[in-house]
Amino acid sequence: MEAWFFENQTGNFGIKIRIKSVLLHEFSDYQEITIYDTLEFGKVLVLDKAVMFAEKNEFVYHEMLGLVPLFSHKNPERILIIGGGDGGVVRECLKNPFVKHIDLVEIDKKVIDVSKEFFPEIACKLEDRRVRILAEDGIEFVKRINEGGSEDEKYDVILVDSTDPVGPAEGLFRRDFYEAAAGSLKDDGIFTAQTESPFFNQNLIKDVGKIIKEIYAKSSLYCASIPVYPSGLWSFTAGSKKYDTKVINESYNNFDFGRFEADLKYYSPEIHSSSFILPNFIKEILK
Ligand code: SAM
Repeated sequence: MEAWFFENQTGNFGIKIRIKSVLLHEFSDYQEITIYDTLEFGKVLVLDKAVMFAEKNEFVYHEMLGLVPLFSHKNPERILIIGGGDGGVVRECLKNPFVKHIDLVEIDKKVIDVSKEFFPEIACKLEDRRVRILAEDGIEFVKRINEGGSEDEKYDVILVDSTDPVGPAEGLFRRDFYEAAAGSLKDDGIFTAQTESPFFNQNLIKDVGKIIKEIYAKSSLYCASIPVYPSGLWSFTAGSKKYDTKVINESYNNFDFGRFEADLKYYSPEIHSSSFILPNFIKEILK
Protein backbone atom coordinates (compact mmCIF):
# COMPACT_ATOMS: atom_id res chain seq x y z
CA MET A 1 0.00 0.00 0.00
CA GLU A 2 1.42 3.43 -0.99
CA ALA A 3 1.20 6.08 1.72
CA TRP A 4 1.82 9.80 0.99
CA PHE A 5 2.10 13.02 3.00
CA PHE A 6 0.62 15.96 1.11
CA GLU A 7 1.64 19.48 2.09
CA ASN A 8 -0.84 22.05 0.85
CA GLN A 9 1.58 24.96 0.48
CA THR A 10 -0.52 27.75 -1.01
CA GLY A 11 -4.06 26.42 -1.18
CA ASN A 12 -3.52 25.88 -4.90
CA PHE A 13 -0.16 24.15 -4.92
CA GLY A 14 1.63 21.61 -2.79
CA ILE A 15 4.00 18.69 -2.63
CA LYS A 16 3.51 14.97 -2.04
CA ILE A 17 6.14 12.90 -0.21
CA ARG A 18 5.85 9.13 -0.19
CA ILE A 19 6.20 7.87 3.37
CA LYS A 20 7.48 4.63 4.80
CA SER A 21 6.11 5.24 8.29
CA VAL A 22 4.93 7.83 10.79
CA LEU A 23 7.56 7.95 13.54
CA LEU A 24 5.79 10.46 15.76
CA HIS A 25 2.56 12.39 15.85
CA GLU A 26 1.62 14.58 18.83
CA PHE A 27 0.43 18.02 19.87
CA SER A 28 2.59 20.33 21.97
CA ASP A 29 1.22 23.47 23.64
CA TYR A 30 2.04 25.31 20.40
CA GLN A 31 1.70 23.07 17.39
CA GLU A 32 1.09 19.68 15.84
CA ILE A 33 4.38 17.79 15.54
CA THR A 34 4.76 14.94 13.05
CA ILE A 35 7.85 13.05 11.95
CA TYR A 36 7.65 10.91 8.81
CA ASP A 37 10.21 8.48 7.53
CA THR A 38 10.17 9.05 3.77
CA LEU A 39 11.59 7.17 0.79
CA GLU A 40 13.07 10.22 -0.97
CA PHE A 41 14.39 12.48 1.78
CA GLY A 42 14.83 10.36 4.92
CA LYS A 43 13.18 11.59 8.10
CA VAL A 44 11.10 14.77 7.78
CA LEU A 45 9.91 17.11 10.55
CA VAL A 46 6.47 18.61 9.95
CA LEU A 47 4.94 21.31 12.19
CA ASP A 48 1.27 22.16 11.75
CA LYS A 49 1.35 20.23 8.45
CA ALA A 50 4.25 22.30 7.02
CA VAL A 51 7.59 20.65 6.28
CA MET A 52 10.32 22.18 8.44
CA PHE A 53 13.21 20.14 7.10
CA ALA A 54 14.17 16.83 5.58
CA GLU A 55 17.23 14.89 6.66
CA LYS A 56 18.62 14.72 3.13
CA ASN A 57 18.68 18.47 2.43
CA GLU A 58 18.46 20.29 5.77
CA PHE A 59 22.10 21.37 5.40
CA VAL A 60 21.20 23.92 2.68
CA TYR A 61 18.93 26.03 4.86
CA HIS A 62 20.95 25.66 8.06
CA GLU A 63 24.30 26.48 6.44
CA MET A 64 22.90 29.46 4.55
CA LEU A 65 20.96 30.97 7.46
CA GLY A 66 23.89 30.47 9.85
CA LEU A 67 27.07 31.01 7.87
CA VAL A 68 26.34 33.88 5.48
CA PRO A 69 25.70 36.37 8.33
CA LEU A 70 28.44 34.98 10.58
CA PHE A 71 31.20 35.02 7.98
CA SER A 72 30.19 38.57 7.01
CA HIS A 73 30.84 39.68 10.59
CA LYS A 74 34.38 40.51 11.76
CA ASN A 75 34.18 38.58 15.05
CA PRO A 76 30.71 37.14 15.85
CA GLU A 77 31.15 36.04 19.46
CA ARG A 78 27.57 36.31 20.81
CA ILE A 79 24.76 34.85 18.69
CA LEU A 80 21.01 34.83 19.30
CA ILE A 81 18.91 32.30 17.38
CA ILE A 82 15.14 32.65 17.61
CA GLY A 83 13.25 29.45 16.80
CA GLY A 84 15.53 26.78 15.40
CA GLY A 85 14.74 24.27 18.14
CA ASP A 86 16.03 21.44 15.93
CA GLY A 87 19.58 22.74 16.47
CA GLY A 88 20.56 22.87 12.79
CA VAL A 89 21.55 26.54 12.79
CA VAL A 90 23.33 26.11 16.15
CA ARG A 91 25.40 23.32 14.59
CA GLU A 92 26.39 25.58 11.70
CA CYS A 93 27.15 28.69 13.79
CA LEU A 94 29.64 26.73 15.90
CA LYS A 95 31.74 26.20 12.74
CA ASN A 96 32.67 29.90 12.87
CA PRO A 97 35.97 30.31 14.79
CA PHE A 98 34.87 33.38 16.76
CA VAL A 99 31.63 32.06 18.30
CA LYS A 100 31.82 32.00 22.09
CA HIS A 101 28.13 31.95 23.10
CA ILE A 102 24.81 31.09 21.47
CA ASP A 103 21.40 31.78 23.03
CA LEU A 104 18.75 29.58 21.40
CA VAL A 105 15.28 30.97 22.17
CA GLU A 106 12.76 28.34 21.05
CA ILE A 107 9.16 28.72 22.24
CA ASP A 108 8.37 25.00 22.02
CA LYS A 109 10.58 22.73 24.15
CA LYS A 110 8.90 19.72 22.55
CA VAL A 111 10.60 20.56 19.23
CA ILE A 112 13.97 20.46 20.97
CA ASP A 113 13.15 17.13 22.64
CA VAL A 114 11.90 15.36 19.49
CA SER A 115 14.82 16.75 17.45
CA LYS A 116 17.31 15.31 19.94
CA GLU A 117 15.53 11.95 19.77
CA PHE A 118 14.87 11.63 16.02
CA PHE A 119 17.45 13.99 14.44
CA PRO A 120 20.65 13.58 16.52
CA GLU A 121 22.80 14.63 13.54
CA ILE A 122 20.97 17.99 13.46
CA ALA A 123 20.57 18.50 17.21
CA CYS A 124 24.14 17.31 17.82
CA LYS A 125 25.45 20.62 19.23
CA LEU A 126 22.57 21.54 21.53
CA GLU A 127 24.55 20.21 24.50
CA ASP A 128 27.67 22.21 23.57
CA ARG A 129 28.94 24.23 26.56
CA ARG A 130 28.72 27.44 24.48
CA VAL A 131 24.96 26.96 23.92
CA ARG A 132 22.22 28.17 26.28
CA ILE A 133 18.69 27.03 25.48
CA LEU A 134 15.74 29.17 26.59
CA ALA A 135 12.24 27.80 26.01
CA GLU A 136 10.41 31.09 25.58
CA ASP A 137 8.90 33.52 23.11
CA GLY A 138 11.57 35.22 21.02
CA ILE A 139 9.41 38.32 20.70
CA GLU A 140 9.31 38.84 24.47
CA PHE A 141 12.98 37.92 24.75
CA VAL A 142 14.29 40.62 22.41
CA LYS A 143 11.89 43.15 23.94
CA ARG A 144 13.52 42.47 27.31
CA ILE A 145 17.06 42.77 25.96
CA ASN A 146 16.22 45.89 23.97
CA GLU A 147 14.54 47.64 26.89
CA GLY A 148 16.76 46.58 29.75
CA GLY A 149 19.73 44.61 28.49
CA SER A 150 23.22 45.81 29.32
CA GLU A 151 25.72 46.29 26.48
CA ASP A 152 27.40 42.95 27.16
CA GLU A 153 24.02 41.18 26.94
CA LYS A 154 23.62 42.39 23.35
CA TYR A 155 24.48 40.25 20.35
CA ASP A 156 26.82 40.35 17.40
CA VAL A 157 24.36 38.38 15.24
CA ILE A 158 20.63 37.63 15.59
CA LEU A 159 19.15 34.90 13.40
CA VAL A 160 15.43 34.18 13.05
CA ASP A 161 14.88 30.55 12.18
CA SER A 162 11.12 30.58 12.59
CA THR A 163 8.10 28.81 11.25
CA ASP A 164 5.93 30.64 8.70
CA PRO A 165 4.31 33.93 9.79
CA VAL A 166 1.35 32.32 11.52
CA GLY A 167 0.59 31.47 15.13
CA PRO A 168 3.45 32.17 17.56
CA ALA A 169 5.74 33.16 14.67
CA GLU A 170 3.46 35.86 13.28
CA GLY A 171 4.93 38.57 15.52
CA LEU A 172 8.43 37.68 14.29
CA PHE A 173 7.60 39.33 10.96
CA ARG A 174 6.39 42.65 12.39
CA ARG A 175 8.12 46.04 12.65
CA ASP A 176 8.13 46.18 16.47
CA PHE A 177 9.97 42.87 16.64
CA TYR A 178 12.52 43.99 14.03
CA GLU A 179 13.09 47.24 15.93
CA ALA A 180 13.52 45.44 19.25
CA ALA A 181 15.93 42.99 17.59
CA ALA A 182 17.98 45.88 16.20
CA GLY A 183 18.13 47.34 19.72
CA SER A 184 19.39 43.97 20.97
CA LEU A 185 22.35 44.03 18.59
CA LYS A 186 25.76 45.59 19.24
CA ASP A 187 26.81 48.63 17.17
CA ASP A 188 28.26 46.40 14.43
CA GLY A 189 25.56 43.74 14.64
CA ILE A 190 23.93 41.73 11.85
CA PHE A 191 20.30 40.53 11.74
CA THR A 192 19.11 37.83 9.37
CA ALA A 193 15.71 36.14 9.07
CA GLN A 194 14.28 33.48 6.81
CA THR A 195 11.73 35.34 4.68
CA GLU A 196 9.85 32.66 2.77
CA SER A 197 9.48 32.07 -0.99
CA PRO A 198 10.14 34.74 -3.68
CA PHE A 199 7.50 33.00 -5.80
CA PHE A 200 4.72 32.71 -3.24
CA ASN A 201 5.44 35.40 -0.60
CA GLN A 202 6.34 38.49 -2.60
CA ASN A 203 4.35 40.93 -0.45
CA LEU A 204 5.96 39.62 2.74
CA ILE A 205 9.45 39.88 1.23
CA LYS A 206 8.69 43.42 0.03
CA ASP A 207 7.26 44.54 3.39
CA VAL A 208 10.05 42.99 5.47
CA GLY A 209 12.71 44.31 3.07
CA LYS A 210 11.31 47.85 3.41
CA ILE A 211 11.38 47.72 7.25
CA ILE A 212 14.89 46.23 7.38
CA LYS A 213 16.11 48.88 4.91
CA GLU A 214 14.69 51.63 7.15
CA ILE A 215 16.28 50.19 10.30
CA TYR A 216 19.78 49.20 9.13
CA ALA A 217 22.66 50.96 7.39
CA LYS A 218 22.85 48.05 4.96
CA SER A 219 20.17 45.58 3.92
CA SER A 220 20.25 42.67 1.51
CA LEU A 221 18.45 39.55 0.40
CA TYR A 222 19.99 36.26 -0.62
CA CYS A 223 18.51 32.98 -1.82
CA ALA A 224 19.08 29.25 -1.76
CA SER A 225 17.30 26.31 -3.34
CA ILE A 226 15.54 24.06 -0.86
CA PRO A 227 13.62 21.22 -2.51
CA VAL A 228 11.02 20.62 0.21
CA TYR A 229 10.09 24.30 0.74
CA PRO A 230 7.25 25.97 -1.17
CA SER A 231 8.49 26.65 -4.75
CA GLY A 232 11.94 25.20 -3.94
CA LEU A 233 13.45 28.70 -3.81
CA TRP A 234 13.92 30.36 -0.42
CA SER A 235 14.93 33.84 0.73
CA PHE A 236 16.84 35.31 3.64
CA THR A 237 16.70 39.01 4.52
CA ALA A 238 19.70 40.58 6.26
CA GLY A 239 20.14 43.92 7.99
CA SER A 240 23.59 45.09 9.03
CA LYS A 241 24.71 48.05 11.16
CA LYS A 242 28.20 48.04 9.67
CA TYR A 243 29.45 45.09 7.59
CA ASP A 244 28.51 44.19 4.03
CA THR A 245 26.78 40.80 4.31
CA LYS A 246 27.43 40.19 0.61
CA VAL A 247 31.14 39.59 1.26
CA ILE A 248 33.13 37.43 3.64
CA ASN A 249 34.81 39.68 6.19
CA GLU A 250 38.57 40.14 5.81
CA SER A 251 39.06 38.66 9.28
CA TYR A 252 38.64 35.27 7.55
CA ASN A 253 41.32 35.90 4.91
CA ASN A 254 43.42 33.11 6.41
CA PHE A 255 40.45 30.87 7.29
CA ASP A 256 40.75 27.54 5.48
CA PHE A 257 37.22 26.88 4.18
CA GLY A 258 38.65 23.89 2.33
CA ARG A 259 39.30 22.21 5.69
CA PHE A 260 35.51 22.23 6.21
CA GLU A 261 34.82 20.89 2.73
CA ALA A 262 33.19 17.71 4.05
CA ASP A 263 31.39 19.63 6.74
CA LEU A 264 30.06 22.34 4.43
CA LYS A 265 27.79 20.67 1.93
CA TYR A 266 26.31 23.86 0.42
CA TYR A 267 28.01 26.99 1.77
CA SER A 268 31.34 28.13 0.31
CA PRO A 269 32.94 31.53 -0.36
CA GLU A 270 31.64 31.34 -3.94
CA ILE A 271 28.13 30.44 -2.82
CA HIS A 272 28.26 33.23 -0.22
CA SER A 273 28.71 35.99 -2.77
CA SER A 274 26.70 34.40 -5.59
CA SER A 275 23.62 33.87 -3.37
CA PHE A 276 23.12 37.65 -3.41
CA ILE A 277 22.99 37.78 -7.21
CA LEU A 278 19.24 37.94 -7.75
CA PRO A 279 17.09 37.30 -10.80
CA ASN A 280 15.22 40.35 -12.10
CA PHE A 281 11.82 39.25 -10.72
CA ILE A 282 13.25 39.31 -7.20
CA LYS A 283 15.00 42.65 -7.75
CA GLU A 284 11.58 43.90 -8.89
CA ILE A 285 9.98 42.79 -5.60
CA LEU A 286 12.56 44.80 -3.64
CA LYS A 287 12.23 47.97 -5.72
N1 SAM B 1 15.20 24.93 11.22
C1 SAM B 1 14.10 24.36 10.48
C2 SAM B 1 14.26 24.66 9.04
O1 SAM B 1 15.10 24.04 8.42
O2 SAM B 1 13.52 25.50 8.53
C3 SAM B 1 12.74 24.77 10.90
C4 SAM B 1 12.60 25.95 11.64
S1 SAM B 1 12.43 25.70 13.34
C5 SAM B 1 11.76 24.10 13.57
C6 SAM B 1 11.05 26.80 13.58
C7 SAM B 1 10.80 26.99 15.04
O3 SAM B 1 10.33 28.30 15.34
C8 SAM B 1 9.73 26.05 15.63
O4 SAM B 1 10.35 25.08 16.42
C9 SAM B 1 8.80 26.96 16.42
O5 SAM B 1 8.40 26.39 17.65
C10 SAM B 1 9.68 28.19 16.61
N2 SAM B 1 8.96 29.43 16.90
C11 SAM B 1 7.84 29.91 16.31
N3 SAM B 1 7.49 31.09 16.85
C12 SAM B 1 8.41 31.37 17.82
C13 SAM B 1 8.59 32.45 18.73
N4 SAM B 1 7.73 33.49 18.76
N5 SAM B 1 9.65 32.41 19.57
C14 SAM B 1 10.52 31.36 19.55
N6 SAM B 1 10.40 30.29 18.71
C15 SAM B 1 9.35 30.31 17.86
